[in-house]
Amino acid sequence: MSKVQTLNHNLEQIKYQTCPYDDEEAILLTDIDEDMPETDEDGELQYYCLTGHHVFTVEEEEES
Ligand SMILES: [Zn+2]
Repeated sequence: MSKVQTLNHNLEQIKYQTCPYDDEEAILLTDIDEDMPETDEDGELQYYCLTGHHVFTVEEEEES
């Protein structure tokens, strides 16, 4: 599996999240030109809530 295929596979898995504000479905924000996930200044993935129009980030879980 090439790097691109691996990336696309990972993107499918992280494409949807549950909005923390209203528990509605949210989709991953992506850069249309680059087809890469939109991130904030900390490099965290940003999601857009379809119902409540919320934008939020999801921190990757760290094992402690
Ligand atoms: Zn929401």
